[in-house]
Amino acid sequence: MTEQRSDIAIVGGGPVGGLAACTLARAGYAVTLFERGVSPVPNAHANDTRGYALAAGTVQFLDDLGYWAPLAERATAIRSIVVSRRGGLGRVHLNAADHGRHALGQVVPAVALEPMLDAACREAGVDVRYESTLAGVGEVTDGRRELCIHGTEGEGAWSARLILAADGIGSPTRKALGLPVNRHRYAADALVFDVQPARPHNGQAFERFTDEGPLALLPQADGRMNVVWVAPPEACERRLELNGAERLQELQARFGWTLGRLQPAGRVVRFPLERVHAPEPVAERALLLGNAAHSVHPVAGQGLNLSLRDVATLLGALRERHGQGGAPRFVADPGASDTLAAYAQARRNDVNGVVAATDFLARGMLHAAGLRGHALGSGMMAVDRLRPARDRLARAAMGLGALPRHTARQLTRPDVGSKA
Ligand SMILES: Cc1cc2nc3c(=O)[nH]c(=O)nc-3n(C[C@H](O)[C@H](O)[C@H](O)COP(=O)(O)OP(=O)(O)OC[C@H]3O[C@@H](n4cnc5c(N)ncnc54)[C@H](O)[C@@H]3O)c2cc1C
Repeated sequence: MTEQRSDIAIVGGGPVGGLAACTLARAGYAVTLFERGVSPVPNAHANDTRGYALAAGTVQFLDDLGYWAPLAERATAIRSIVVSRRGGLGRVHLNAADHGRHALGQVVPAVALEPMLDAACREAGVDVRYESTLAGVGEVTDGRRELCIHGTEGEGAWSARLILAADGIGSPTRKALGLPVNRHRYAADALVFDVQPARPHNGQAFERFTDEGPLALLPQADGRMNVVWVAPPEACERRLELNGAERLQELQARFGWTLGRLQPAGRVVRFPLERVHAPEPVAERALLLGNAAHSVHPVAGQGLNLSLRDVATLLGALRERHGQGGAPRFVADPGASDTLAAYAQARRNDVNGVVAATDFLARGMLHAAGLRGHALGSGMMAVDRLRPARDRLARAAMGLGALPRHTARQLTRPDVGSKA
């Protein structure tokens, strides 16, 4: 069997593997992307009903890379966020305009990302291989890691200076590399679907903490809202069996009438919820990215934002340290151990912080009863009234922290049309 070679081999062509592939190819690396699914078809019937809430910082990063324009026409701006507790005091209202911004973030349908990234990978010269599944990871020889891929033409041997595992929460690559993970299956699933409210949403997003779990409504195109309804698996099971009108009656009882009557507007998909965190995302000539490294509860819509910061940081870590002016230059060997160690070190605080914060919220901390509930209600009212506290919360929601953006901005602009 002849071995095929690339600088970087990526397993998993989801949003993280897809973005890493086109970005790293534009940095000059020979990149091969293996995705077990089939090639995405633009405007295909939505199997994934999620609307991704992308923080303003993530949108800026995508824009720096030249990938925001093709997504913008499918996106809906989040102009304000209302955080509340069902049956409890306290509410926090964050307004983009109060913080001098047009939007706190944008909601992009998950189905719009895949075709855009597919076009971006092709434009950047990535060798994209669909219907290709990881069959095994081999040893490191002469500075290259081997891997075995089962594709449409049978099994093939590959080697790369760096393997990126972007193959999701169950990551077969992570398992093959023997990297340990901490896992926690929440006693909750999420039902995700669109609704059509009677009143205009005006770009408002809602996050409501209930005794069952968080309930989010995100603004979408055509006046629709995307619902992420977290509840115990038995409740989700029962609600899936209801007809649309009955389900919405239950939703309305939990969400209220702020947006008038809610009507069903599309299919309902169920997502089991799990926290997975690999404390050490690096192996010899291999790195875990995105959900393979850290999968968090969807409360506050942080997962993909966190994962795309992995890609931004990796791009920065691969940049040569000297000669910062002009077009960026990248290290010849992307899998060198010092580069991977620097990446892991740079990501540690952000990843640990988001894993801990989302876990805290997921465990129902904002729906406490009794004395603690009163204290929380008072705390939320105080945050709502205090400008500095609201500023801090808004900055966190917008993800405008220390995202290493300069390198992305300096890459040559791609030519990716509005194919999303
Ligand atoms: C209900 C819900 C709502 C969410 N909402 C938001 C939100 O609003 N904002 C936000 O930022 N995040 C959100 N997230 C998180 C977001 O979905 C994840 O962060 C994101 O999907 C991670 O992308 P990924 O590419 O790492 O993994 P995935 O999307 O899981 O992609 C992994 C890819 O790897 C492929 N693959 C798997 N195994 C193999 C193999 N052996 N060989 C080849 N290919 C393989 C799969 O086919 C898949 O394409 C939400 C999550 C859930 C569950």
